[in-house]
This record gives sequence, structure tokens and C-alpha cells, in this order.
Amino acid sequence: MHVSAIIAAGGRGSRFGAGLPKQLLALGGRPVLQHSVEAFVRSDVIHDVVVALPPEVLASPPSYLTSEARPVQLVEGGERRQDSVAHAFARVAARADVIVVHDAARPLVTADLIRRTVDAAVRFGAAIAALPARDTVKRGDAAGIVRDTLPRDEIFLAQTPQAFRTAVLQAALSLGTAAGEATDEAMLAERAGHQVHLVEGDPRNLKITTPEDLAMAESLLGGAAAALRIGNGYDLHRLAAGRPLVLGGVTIPFDKGLQGHSDADAVCHAVTDAVLGAARAGDIGRHFPDTDPMWKDANSLDLLRRAADVVRAAGYSVVNVDVVVIAQRPKLAPYLDAMEANLAAALRSTADRVSIKGKTNEGVDSIGAGESIAVHAVALLARSSR
Ligand code: MG
Repeated sequence: MHVSAIIAAGGRGSRFGAGLPKQLLALGGRPVLQHSVEAFVRSDVIHDVVVALPPEVLASPPSYLTSEARPVQLVEGGERRQDSVAHAFARVAARADVIVVHDAARPLVTADLIRRTVDAAVRFGAAIAALPARDTVKRGDAAGIVRDTLPRDEIFLAQTPQAFRTAVLQAALSLGTAAGEATDEAMLAERAGHQVHLVEGDPRNLKITTPEDLAMAESLLGGAAAALRIGNGYDLHRLAAGRPLVLGGVTIPFDKGLQGHSDADAVCHAVTDAVLGAARAGDIGRHFPDTDPMWKDANSLDLLRRAADVVRAAGYSVVNVDVVVIAQRPKLAPYLDAMEANLAAALRSTADRVSIKGKTNEGVDSIGAGESIAVHAVALLARSSR
């Protein structure tokens, strides 16, 4: 049994009012279309996927459509929805036993709903996901007057996926080339004389039609939290005579300084690791190994700036950074503002997003004895929508 999926993403979303077609708007940091395509690529009942795209998107397709583990074919969408589906159908018809059609604007479709719809199409020839009406359904007229109350138990709200044996979809689509605009493939299958079975849909499988729908989908996905990542960094250096004490890029008058290959700025090192860790981009030792003479006596603010470039290239921006410097001496309070400003500049952020606190170690252990300074840092990153 070969099952192919067609994702209809050819529309330009004129109802939404945004600059981008609605299927390309960001949801949880990724385009709506990417969510929809991935649901089918990851489904273990689907063998291949064809996506019908607007011509301007097809001309330079985004990487998530060209680098999937399973084959994703791209075709140009048509004027009407059924034309887009017909273009995609031409690519899959030869080997598919069952074809499932899905609207790209329903990004929250689940593997379970895909499977149940496909199973029903295998049994019955045609099946659609649909929700039973829960509200009382009225028929009204253009003047806003209720004309009729419809029997609710006979009303179902059609969703996608909609799945068909190949011959059934072929009959439906050949009717569609002549027919007027159909809002779904099932409507054409019905007109072609086929029985279409109802599969219990999913209320979360909503269609992104308005900005409010997008906000609702965002909250169903776990809200903004889905696009946030936290990272943790730690560093400790010994204090030694004859070295400058550099913390957060500020040279602090003191009779000792931190030992190390670079300027030994433990504040920059801990923040660098926190930022890299949040993006799962390795650590300071991997990017700037102390075996490499290039980083001998390096300015650690410069390393932090490079790390910030790494995470930015990976699609993240810094939300905020919080740092604790544990030093028995000297007193750091007079230097904290300058350190925060330096870190903010290196992160290409602003000082209101960087916090540094100093504390002592109550005389305990090597830090308390004035032999070392330790730094803890956390960084929160947000995935920028791309
Ligand atoms: Mg270090």
C-alpha cells in the first residue's frame, strides 16, 4: 500500500492581510508550512509528499523543503485550490494507492489524525476529518436575520486531511477542472458520486485564516516558550601576582590578576559558554582552543563577540544574560556598570538585558582565601523568525 500526501500551499492568503502568504508566517519560530510538511514527512503511514507552492516560493524554495530526510517534491500551485491539488496529483498518481490531501494552513495536524483518515480511505475509498457541530447551527440571510435552525446532529465541520483511493481522487479532480471553485476535494468526490466517510477530527487542528487563529495556534504550541532556549556557563581562574585583573572587559586595579592563556576574563568566558550552550553550539574550548596560538592573550570580549555571531547565524537573538561573579576581593560594585555595557556591546544587545552581580565566598575555600575567582552565567535566547 503506497500512500502519498499532497500539501496544498498554493494560496496567497489574501484574507489574512499580512505581507506574507499565511502559510509562510512564523508559528513557534518556524513557518506554518514547515509544521504541516513535517507532520506528513514524519508520519509512518506516508511514503512521499508533494507540496504545491506559489510560483514565487517555488522559484527559491526554503531549505526545510529541500533538505527533508524523505523525498518532498515541489510543484507550482494553480489559480484555484483544486488546480493546485491537480498539479500535485499529476506527480503522484502513478504509484499511489491512496492519496491524502492536506491544507498547509492547518499546521497542528497530528500523526494520529493522519493515520485514522488514511485508514478510513483504505476501507471506504474516501474519508475526511470533520468535527461534529457543538453549537446550535442557524441559517441566516444577508440582512442578518435567522431563517432556520438546522439539526445539529447532522452538521459536521470539514477539516483536512482528506484521503482518497487514487481512482476516487482522479474522478473528483477531473470534475474539478470543469466545475466552479470547490472548497475541498471531498465536495468534488461527492459530486462524482462517491461516498465520503467522516473521521472524528481534532479541535486543535485549526485552520490559520486570521491573526487570531495564529495567536491561538501559538498558545496551543506552548506559546512563546517554544521558541526560547536557556544556557548555563561557568568558569574559574586562579589569581596570581603580576597579572592584570580583567573582568567583563574592565581592567580592575588589584594586586593580582587571573591566570590563563588569554586575558583570563572569566566573566566573558562564562557568558560565552552560556550563550553557546543555549544554542547547542558547543563551548568556548571548541571554538577558541587554548592550544591554538591564535587565542594567546586574546581579548575575551572579542571571543564573546564571535560566539554571539555564531548563535545569531544559527537563528537566535539574546533575550537576557545574568551573571554572578564570586570573588572575595576586590569589591566589584564600582565596575559592574562598565562590565555590563561591555558585555551588551559584544552581544550586540543593550545594557538593560545584561545583569552582573558580585558576591564574596564568605572566606570559604580557594575563592574565599583569595586564590581564585569563579563566575556563573545564564543566557536566554529567542529563535528569530526566519
Ligand atoms: Mg576561562
